[in-house]
Amino acid sequence: MTGGGQLVLLVEDEAAMRRFLRASLQAQGFRLVEAATVREALIAVATHNPDLVLLDLGLPDGDGIALTRTIREGSRVPILVVSARGRESDKVEALDAGADDYLTKPFGMNELLARMRVAFRHHGAERGERAPVVEVGELHLDLERRQVVVAGTEVHLTPIEYKILALLGRNVGKLLTHQQILEEVWGPAYATHTHYVRVHMAELRKKIERDPARPRILVTEPGVGYRLRDRDDAARG
Ligand code: CA
Repeated sequence: MTGGGQLVLLVEDEAAMRRFLRASLQAQGFRLVEAATVREALIAVATHNPDLVLLDLGLPDGDGIALTRTIREGSRVPILVVSARGRESDKVEALDAGADDYLTKPFGMNELLARMRVAFRHHGAERGERAPVVEVGELHLDLERRQVVVAGTEVHLTPIEYKILALLGRNVGKLLTHQQILEEVWGPAYATHTHYVRVHMAELRKKIERDPARPRILVTEPGVGYRLRDRDDAARG
């Protein structure tokens, strides 16, 4: 069991999918609240204050992306989109709207649980429970001392490279869009300069990846953005 009694709001209009997720998540020790529409979801967020939201995008009375924006106006609850829509543009839109991660149906239960763990951890980190040290594979990133060590050897990064790595490190396991990285590292005026990220990411990978052509630490989500692999991910290979 991994749930620890945390309350999950399941927003899904397909009864069969709800039944499957309810059974699987309850078996893991999670408590469930369910909503089949945008309207029910908004009421549930306000009345139950869930620890995490699992969100389908295609709902009978509206769209999950607009719902994500509305929830974000008043809450930092982790939102994990679980959708049949697999286009890059859908993922980017959901993440830029404030979703924490995006899983495409069909998905494996282990994958969902891993993404949920990342979302919970990230949320805990935002409340100040963050460990200042991130360790993924051979990478040891100390965010307090601004130190980067790979396989026991200290690595020197340019200020921009460090900013990118630290941003991904503070959001370990979480998928960040190109726009989110550009706005955080370069500033809002640079939100469309996607090539900046690509160029500096390539340099960063040369310094921290064993094989920069097959990155195992800084993972590309094609057309969407990047994530620094979580320990769970790294262990699964
Ligand atoms: Ca649906």
